[in-house]
Order: sequence, then structure tokens, then C-alpha cells
Amino acid sequence: MQTTRFVLEQQEIPTHWYNVVADMPNPPSPPLGPDGNVVSPEQMLAIFPGPLLEQEMSAERWIPIPEAVREIYRLWRPSPLIRALRLEQALGTSAKLYYKNEGVSPAGSHKPNTAVPQAFYNHQVGIRRLTTETGAGQWGSSMAFAGQMFGIEVRVFMVKVSYDQKPSRRSMMQAWGAEVFSSPSILTKAGRDVLAKHPDSDGSLGLAISEAVEEAAGRPDTNYCLGSVLNHVLLHQTIIGLEAKKQFEKAGDWPDVIFGPCGGGSSFGGIALPFLADKAAGKTPNLRLVAVEPTSCPTLTKGAYAYDYGDASGYTPIMKMYTLGHDFMPPGIHAGGLRYHGDSPLISQLVHEGLMEAVAVPQVATFEAGVLFAKAEGIIPAPESCHAIRAAIDEALECKRTGEPKTILFNLTGHGHFDMASYDRYFSGKLEDYDYPAEAIHESLAHLPKV
Ligand SMILES: *Cc1c(COP(=O)(O)O)cnc(C)c1O
Repeated sequence: MQTTRFVLEQQEIPTHWYNVVADMPNPPSPPLGPDGNVVSPEQMLAIFPGPLLEQEMSAERWIPIPEAVREIYRLWRPSPLIRALRLEQALGTSAKLYYKNEGVSPAGSHKPNTAVPQAFYNHQVGIRRLTTETGAGQWGSSMAFAGQMFGIEVRVFMVKVSYDQKPSRRSMMQAWGAEVFSSPSILTKAGRDVLAKHPDSDGSLGLAISEAVEEAAGRPDTNYCLGSVLNHVLLHQTIIGLEAKKQFEKAGDWPDVIFGPCGGGSSFGGIALPFLADKAAGKTPNLRLVAVEPTSCPTLTKGAYAYDYGDASGYTPIMKMYTLGHDFMPPGIHAGGLRYHGDSPLISQLVHEGLMEAVAVPQVATFEAGVLFAKAEGIIPAPESCHAIRAAIDEALECKRTGEPKTILFNLTGHGHFDMASYDRYFSGKLEDYDYPAEAIHESLAHLPKV
């Protein structure tokens, strides 16, 4: 019998995260304040703990993982690397398909990889209360779980469309002791302003961020946590790719192309950046790293590379990134984790400089791919992960056509057990493909801050 599951021992959980800034051809552009000046650490300390800010600005290649964090990681890490042999057979492809299964975490996705260190560093500096936002509910549940590990209170602003679609995600956060509010809420000025203009607003990740930041900035005992986009979040997620490299060594194989779903870029950075180190050093020049996004929220493929706010209301510093404009409201697609107007500045820069690529896929085709994967491999993927599966299957089918024996890796960022309502819509033929919202994007790009 052929080996298809490549596992590591608990002792092999990496001891350091990898910081790609050390190996980037050009230094990252710093975040700027509304006055156009570089944001001072003092301003950021109002909502983030010092150790995370240091990581945010660090250019050190290797950052040690605190032992207390590794001890929580071992509840589910190292996560398995699986060869999707049955999917290969179902496709009849000459390619080899592997996936890293991040759905084995307590919250069901990669997000606890950063939620745990974020709770740890906040606890270390004496913070007892955290606010955050959540789209599909994955980040909120990860933060609720991580807060519980270190005895920190967590308040979550949950994008309304998900709050209504996913009551079980809410209960999950409550089981780990968090408070959950539908966003836009009446608890903040940002929420009240939107409700006054659009009482039926579906909400957006950008707006929920505004609400959580507003509350954290207004209370000294409270800090804010972001589940994606920022450098320190990508740093923590590199544990995915670092483990995968050790697992490929055991498998005696190496990827030619890596696909990951991309919302704010954290899981894609997490799996891809450790491999990018070898590409940047000229060791694997042909390796392709491909971010996969929805056609309805096509940040990397159709956005502008420009300075923009991270949230809808303009509370955050402006960052240089691919953006659809901070007031762009994406359609209410079922991959809630991919409905973000911007993207990680690190991923944006690497795409801009040609070291990484991006593709966009339509919604219905992603569910088709997810169901094909579930039938072959048994795991029901999160709708976000279905984006990477779609692109990986398309690549494998292209290999079938050309007869190429490529090795393809994709990031199974989460399971879809809390997304069955979306699958129901797919099975009943009610799931729509949204057109590329050209006009809305054109309109919101007219409101980029002037730098
Ligand atoms: C949040 C989420 C994503 C997208 O977020 P990134 O920061 O781009 O990784 C992808 N997959 C799942 C399962 C998620 O929960």
C-alpha cells in the first residue's frame, strides 16, 4: 500500500516562524497615517501589544515561537500533508496532488495558528480584553478559542450576512466564552453611521474591523486583533509552509506549483512564503505560487496597487496593497473569508514584483470542485478552500492534457462543516455566479486616499 499521509511528531513542530521580509528583493512600504507620515509605534500601541508590533516591523529572518504557544499548537499540530491519490485517480491526471489539511484545528481552519500567539502576547503585556471582527465566523471562533486558552475576554463583531447565515458559528464562539454582535451594530459610531444610511446593510469585513478598532482604541484595558493582512499574521501562518517543507522531504517529492485561497492573504502567505525563500534564493526558480480569489471580489487580479485604508471607515493606517477601494461592498458570496477589499501588503508587493501570481474563479465552479474533492477524499472543504481546489483541479486537468507529471500542492485551509447551508444552496441550484462588479469597483477606486 502506498503512503499518502505524511505526518510529523509533536517534537517536530517548528521552533521559529519565517519572516519573508529578510529575503524580499525590495523593502516593504511602511503604513502611513492620515497626514501621510509613517505611523508611529505609539499610535499603534493603543490597540496592539509591543511584541506583536516588533514582529510587524521586523526584518529578522527567523522569529522564535514561544514555548507556551508551541504547547497550545500541539493540540492539533503538526497538521497532516496528504497526497490526494483518489482525487488524482478520479481526474485521471498525470499530476500529483497534495494538500495540507489546516481543517484539523479546534476552530476548523488555519486561523488559530495566529490567534494563539496574538492572545499569548496580549496576555503577556497584561491585556485582559480583546475585540475583533469576523466574516464567515472562522476568525471569531479562532480568537474565542485562543482567548479562552489564556483567560482573556473576547468580543466579536460578526459581519451581518454571516451572523444570519451561520448561527452555529455564533454558538461555537459562545462555547469558548466570547460575546458576539452582528455588524453593523449600534455599539459603535462606525456601525451607527452605516445603519443610518443603509439600514439593510449586509455588513462587510472592512466595516466590522472599524467597529472592533473603534472600541479597542477607546478602552485602555482592551486591544484589537486582526485575523489576516498584517505582517505578523502572515509570520505566524508560516508554520504551515515550514511543516509542509519537512513533510515533502519525507515524501521525497517537492511542489512545482502551490495554490491557496486568498482573502487577506494570511493562509496563502503561510503556505507559500517558506517556499518563496528558495525561489528568491534561485534554488527553485520555476516554482509557481498562485493566490486564488473570487471573481466577485478580485482584489489581486483587478484591483489597484495603491495606498488604501484597511477598513471601511478609514480608522486604520493606510497601507500599500492591491485594493478594490475601502468602501467597496462585495456581493454576499458564501466564501465569507474572501470578501475583503484589500490584501496583505507583503503578498501584494510580491505579486506586483512578479514573484507570486493570482487567478480569480467564479463561485459555482468552486463548489463543483469542493464536491468532487469530498467525493474522492472524504473531507468536506470550506467554501474558501474550494477556490484553491478549483485552481488545483484545473492545473491537474491541464497536466492530463499535456501529459506533464507536475507536483501540485494546495492549502485546505478549513473544513466546511459550518457551511452546509451554502452547500444546500449549491445542491438546490440556487447558488449564483456574480459578474465582475466593474462599476462598483470603479466607483470605490475613485475614493482612494490621496498620498
Ligand atoms: C479566513 C479564511 C480564509 C481567507 O483568509 P486569508 O487570510 O486569506 O487566509 C481562507 N480559508 C478559510 C477556511 C478561512 O477561514
